[in-house]
Amino acid sequence: MNNISYDELRRSRQRLSLLLFLFINILFSIFYVATAFNTTRTPTIPSILVALASPILLIISYFRMKNYAHQLNIFSLIIGLLWAWHISTRFHSMVPLDKNVLLFSLMMVFFISAISLTGNFQAFCLHSLPSAVTVVVLDDFTHAPMLALAIVLPLLSFSLHYLMHKRADVFTHELVNRLSHERERFSDLSMIDPLTGLFNRRGMNNKLENLALDKGNSHYILLLDIDHFKAYNDNYGHTMGDKALVAVAVAIRDAVRSRDVVVRYGGEEFLVLLIDVDQHQAMERAESVRQAVLDLKIPHVYSENEPTTVTLSAGIAMLSGDNIIESLSMADVALYQAKKSGRNVVQLAVEDNPINTGSVNAVQ
Ligand code: GH3
Ligand code: MG
Ligand code: MG
Repeated sequence: MNNISYDELRRSRQRLSLLLFLFINILFSIFYVATAFNTTRTPTIPSILVALASPILLIISYFRMKNYAHQLNIFSLIIGLLWAWHISTRFHSMVPLDKNVLLFSLMMVFFISAISLTGNFQAFCLHSLPSAVTVVVLDDFTHAPMLALAIVLPLLSFSLHYLMHKRADVFTHELVNRLSHERERFSDLSMIDPLTGLFNRRGMNNKLENLALDKGNSHYILLLDIDHFKAYNDNYGHTMGDKALVAVAVAIRDAVRSRDVVVRYGGEEFLVLLIDVDQHQAMERAESVRQAVLDLKIPHVYSENEPTTVTLSAGIAMLSGDNIIESLSMADVALYQAKKSGRNVVQLAVEDNPINTGSVNAVQ
């Protein structure tokens, strides 16, 4: 689950609350209008208004609303005021006056709030308080203790529920945030080679997907392979082999620009995507990478004064359109030629016209 889906969940909860609130109001208003007709009384104007307005608002909310929490507050206030008006009108039209009806009406309003406005404290108050105030005023202290209980208890228990609900909500939100943060971190880590800190192949693919390469400019792929690295490992041990790989990775990274993408392509193979360069610049970059690695003095684990060296061979090919696979295989062929022609060279993949540069040095 990510943040977006969590926010969507919250929105859908508010939407459901809003629709339920309007639906229950439709039922209650129809009930009041119908019982008024049944007992040959005239239904109150506000109950007719609630019966008319609620279905309209329900339809609008169902199809058009965006900010449900905001709408719920507004609708709760409007309908809450209409119910308060209804209670007042109904009470004044009674002959003889029966103050028990006030208590019953107030319960009805709290009932609607309680079953449809859980988790919406503001809407709960906006809907219930107009009727509560009206009932207190009309009751004129006849049922003061009972009314106090009828108003204070629901408000108190609702506030407690709301607070608990809010705390759970905050906790869940933080948890979801933390999870998505961790997921991003793991996703980042899965794209980085732990030894060299360079992109691995997965990182390269991801980078290529997100990289907006300028179609008008040319880009080059540089495939690099350390020469006789197996022999290096055999001579100096795997630990030193690892140190050499790290040193080579740093040298490559330092020899190219920060916008170029450097990848540990395989065990002792690296790839550099040289962005926005022509053939001449690409060859120059490749040469400086080769030279930088040649100049490296990798300290010997047991004897600091006896540095070791490695060389690398390189195949370079132009990135043709989006076809990285084809360019890669061309660079691979060029690399193979570089190896064949003695290693420690840069070989440009040019159809029918391979060019190679650099010196051929024996590797110790
Ligand atoms: P060539 O010049 O033809 O490329 O010869 P090579 O010996 O470099 O090539 P080969 O493919 O025979 O051997 C690659 C070696 O790279 C073998 C493997 O032990 C070593 N290697 C690959 N990944 C790592 C690594 O992560 N750490 C160390 N220390 N060595 C590695
Ligand atoms: Mg290799
Ligand atoms: Mg090699």
